[in-house]
Amino acid sequence: MASIAIVGAGLSGLRCATLLQASGHDVEVFDRASIIGGRMRTDEVDGFLLDHGFHVMQTAYPTSQRAFDFKAMGALAFEPGAVLVQNKKNRSKFWTMADPFRRPFQGVMSGLNRFASPFDLFRVARLRFAVRRGKQADVFHGNNATSKEYLLNRGFSSAMIERFFHPLFSGIFLEDELRTNERMFRFVFRMMSEGDMVLPEGGIAAAPMQLAQRLGDDRIHLNSAVTVIDDTTVDIDGQLRTFDAVVRAFNPHQSKEKRHVWTLHFAATTSPLKSKHVLLNADVKIKNGLIAHLAVPSDVQPTYAPVSKSLVTITVVGERADALGLLDAASVELAVREEASRWFPEASEDWNLLATQHIEHALPEVGPEVTLLSDRRSTGFECGDHTLHGSVEGALRSAESVAQAVDAHLRG
Ligand SMILES: Cc1cc2nc3c(=O)[nH]c(=O)nc-3n(C[C@H](O)[C@H](O)[C@H](O)COP(=O)(O)OP(=O)(O)OC[C@H]3O[C@@H](n4cnc5c(N)ncnc54)[C@H](O)[C@@H]3O)c2cc1C
Repeated sequence: MASIAIVGAGLSGLRCATLLQASGHDVEVFDRASIIGGRMRTDEVDGFLLDHGFHVMQTAYPTSQRAFDFKAMGALAFEPGAVLVQNKKNRSKFWTMADPFRRPFQGVMSGLNRFASPFDLFRVARLRFAVRRGKQADVFHGNNATSKEYLLNRGFSSAMIERFFHPLFSGIFLEDELRTNERMFRFVFRMMSEGDMVLPEGGIAAAPMQLAQRLGDDRIHLNSAVTVIDDTTVDIDGQLRTFDAVVRAFNPHQSKEKRHVWTLHFAATTSPLKSKHVLLNADVKIKNGLIAHLAVPSDVQPTYAPVSKSLVTITVVGERADALGLLDAASVELAVREEASRWFPEASEDWNLLATQHIEHALPEVGPEVTLLSDRRSTGFECGDHTLHGSVEGALRSAESVAQAVDAHLRG
């Protein structure tokens, strides 16, 4: 039995640890934080579950299907598609954009007809066909242009890009230009069209928790800041320890990652939405708006709010707030209330702010300069989403491949 230290109890570290433990190794996980989960955390505030940033699990991710038991998590799904909101003079208009392939009886993207041409609708169908063709790894082949260039090359109108793709994908990539590598766009679009976006009963933290439970509490050491000395030695809070192998499950350059996001959680007496969709702000780019999207997690997963209350979660991409000169929590909150109250008048006074989260260094930069691959680039024992791409799939896939490499190395 070989001894292995895993530094980082985020999703990648925990997944790598469970796999190596299942292969018969003696695994210990160290994290400098006081709780597990890394970027996947949930706080409980006044009976509400507040995830750190709006965060969903995608049931179509192949690694998630292997790693998690969604049923045991009590995961419940958003409706496919989205609701779009657009301000017209003094009124706001809402359109439901049902996914015509999975909810054919809810109308074929009726909302999009307001600003997208029939050609755009046809292009969505073609895009869907193109990204779903072949193996999943195929979406990581081809060009490395930006997502925006990709959409323009596929012939989408700028109205369609700015009113639909921008609010949706800027809120996923956490950047305001759609500069993320087109391979990532194709991957996410494919996953969204193949599976559901779900929320676990216990909040997003239930995902790392499920992995940690398999490992056992005695295998995880929190409040332990580690410096990796070499492939077998670590310094844990000033004490040197030697293992047969050391895995780095953290991004050593995370403090340089620029993508950041503001997430505001409000308690409301009733849900402002009539369906279990995410609401996209179709004006965010065209009219210099602020909010990318709004969701009501408690409509989907009732555990997110106490009985007869609703949790409203609003996402503001950090670069958008920066561009508008909104640099602190108070000014972001003021501007969010102002914008949201144009859609829902009760937002100005009746919504009670539960938390404003500013999540810095949220995701790794994966622009056109990075050739994204479907598998890990690095050959060392380092995993995490930064070694592949910023997503649960990136974190888990890299963990699986490092676990295999470590196991093979230890077995000679
Ligand atoms: C706001 C937000 C929303 C997101 N939404 C989604 C989504 O909807 N869908 C999706 O697929 N992905 C989403 N993601 C991305 C996803 O959360 C991450 O890709 C994933 O959690 C990364 O896991 P990780 O293990 O690679 O890194 P991390 O979670 O960052 O874990 C690294 C761990 O290492 C620890 N550590 C670092 N240095 C040391 C040290 N020296 N000693 C000890 N411990 C150390 C840290 O404390 C941390 O716990 C989102 C991310 C954010 C921030």
